[in-house]
Amino acid sequence: MPKLKLVTFGCQANDLDSERITGLLLREGYTLTEQEEEADLILLNTCAVREKAEHKVYSRLGSYQALKRRRAGLKIGVCGCVAQQEGQALLNRFPYLDFVVGPSQLTAIPPLLAGATRGVATARAAGYSYPATAPVQRQSGIRAWVSIMEGCDRFCTFCVVPFTRGRERSRPPQEIIEEIRGLKRQGYREVTLLGQTVNSYGRKLTPPVSFVKLLRHIDELAGDYMRVRFTSPHPSDVTDELASAIAELPSLCEQIHLPVQSGSDRILHRMKRGYTRDEFLEKVALLRAKTPDIAITTDIIVGFPGETKEEFRATLDLMQEVGFDGAFIFKYSPRPHTEAEQMPDQLSEDVKGRRLEQALTLLNRLSLERNRAYIGRTVEVLVNREDAKVDVGRHTGRTRQNKIVHFTGDELADGSVVPVAITGATPLYLQGAIAC
Ligand code: SF4
Repeated sequence: MPKLKLVTFGCQANDLDSERITGLLLREGYTLTEQEEEADLILLNTCAVREKAEHKVYSRLGSYQALKRRRAGLKIGVCGCVAQQEGQALLNRFPYLDFVVGPSQLTAIPPLLAGATRGVATARAAGYSYPATAPVQRQSGIRAWVSIMEGCDRFCTFCVVPFTRGRERSRPPQEIIEEIRGLKRQGYREVTLLGQTVNSYGRKLTPPVSFVKLLRHIDELAGDYMRVRFTSPHPSDVTDELASAIAELPSLCEQIHLPVQSGSDRILHRMKRGYTRDEFLEKVALLRAKTPDIAITTDIIVGFPGETKEEFRATLDLMQEVGFDGAFIFKYSPRPHTEAEQMPDQLSEDVKGRRLEQALTLLNRLSLERNRAYIGRTVEVLVNREDAKVDVGRHTGRTRQNKIVHFTGDELADGSVVPVAITGATPLYLQGAIAC
């Protein structure tokens, strides 16, 4: 049986795409291997959101030249956003590369493998790209990603996604419901609905379907068996109706990842984010008014072109004002085709690096404060060994607020839901003991 080595870079959408690629290739008779040396097919599922991730792809591809010479019959392919962005240029640059496949053309991988010539499949899908009948080989038996839309129409000036994943396309609601019904039948305890701006779901469907309406359908199906999350919403589309749904729907977890990117109005305007600092704070206040226990995490970019010391300070102030539970904080990196790449006032790596350090130090303190507030509480934990990265307790799982908990207690099966008394906290996780 031929062996596949699959390497995934980047985001949750790529994690799901890798599960799809694996499903497609297992169906073709492949088995998985961790060893590049014994692989018959090496696939890189790539991310173009940051320059560093893209460079990692090129350096990895460079290292495969000697391997390709040594292993007769080895095929190498690149999928994902770098594939979409570079297309034929990748085949020109790496003559030993066999094929390049964009994120909406995953089902083209088996025919490309069967063909004798090198190939590029980067045509954009007019509608939602991955057929409901195509396979997905999920990594977890407890938590599943469910894609509900692809692409983005917003064109933030730093972001390459609208160029790589294309314009917004929503998946028909019946398909989503059927997929979740199937997952429940298989015993999955949690689904995370995925989309680049997940809460703008359904606007372009005929007839349109609102995101909240979809959530209500899913909640009926999930009952008290499944937890439901979604990521990532755009702050501008956080409505009163959505905040109420989070508060009212039992399956919907008390957690939101709400990317703010900057705390400065001028930078937000230059990023074309479509909201001001005050408007973002109003959304946070709305969510907390309806769901006081909600955990809020975010994305932040430091060192956007032209960002002054004061504007960076405004981001730190906003972080404190909100008191985020967690954040992904990145140095700005210029991306092809984007408006910000052409902005004249790019900051040095040195300045960006120092700002990143400062922001991360503050985040550490804020996350610790938020997590310490759980000490003394008893929380509901979904047991899941996948999060067991720190060996400080016998069991690991997540709260409804998506906080990782390491805890002690008697033997438990993965997928159990148990009460845990919280006794300790770090910036990254909680500690406790099972409460009976
Ligand atoms: S909303 Fe902005 S940052 Fe998010 S995917 Fe769309 S363009 Fe990129």
